Amino acid sequence: MGEQMTSPHENRSYRKKSTVIEGRYRTDFALTCATCGTVDTIHMDPVTPPDVVLSKFTRRGWATDIRNPSACVCPSCLTGKPKTMPPETKSAEPETKAEMPKGPTVQQLKRIAEHLRGCFHAENGHYLDGQTDHTVADALGVPWGWVRAARDLLGFTIKFDPEVKSIRDEIAALAEMILALQSKLDAIERRRTNG
Ligand SMILES: [Zn+2]
Repeated sequence: MGEQMTSPHENRSYRKKSTVIEGRYRTDFALTCATCGTVDTIHMDPVTPPDVVLSKFTRRGWATDIRNPSACVCPSCLTGKPKTMPPETKSAEPETKAEMPKGPTVQQLKRIAEHLRGCFHAENGHYLDGQTDHTVADALGVPWGWVRAARDLLGFTIKFDPEVKSIRDEIAALAEMILALQSKLDAIERRRTNG
């Protein structure tokens, strides 16, 4: 396999750039945007297969074509966002906010909290009058995730669900009925064997 003359990277839409830095060989792959001319460079192993090279750029948001350089477009040109914006700005938001659905302002949260105080039994831990996170969300015209988040913030934990409780009560009543029928049956069978 001494065929160093033909490289799998020849005639590709990207360029393979090899440099020697402090005596060490370093290979970068560069892709040029057909629209704005931006060059993006990714450091990779020189033996990286062409499709893998391309997939690294794709993962960065590029539109790629393995042979056609004019079909390679940078993420900024694709999305229309300014290219000065570093991708880190997105993840720079506090981690705690990730739990909450995006959007509620302090005012909105206050409004939801006020509404919740009127329809949630904080002590017993349940909604009043068949209300749920969903009905509150509908009433206020906000996503139900916001209601849930606001409820969590207030410490309004659902300890029991009236709907679940009513089903549990029914099961208990049925169980009692079954026990009564069973003892009736037992009594009849006892009478028959003894008689
Ligand atoms: Zn571009």
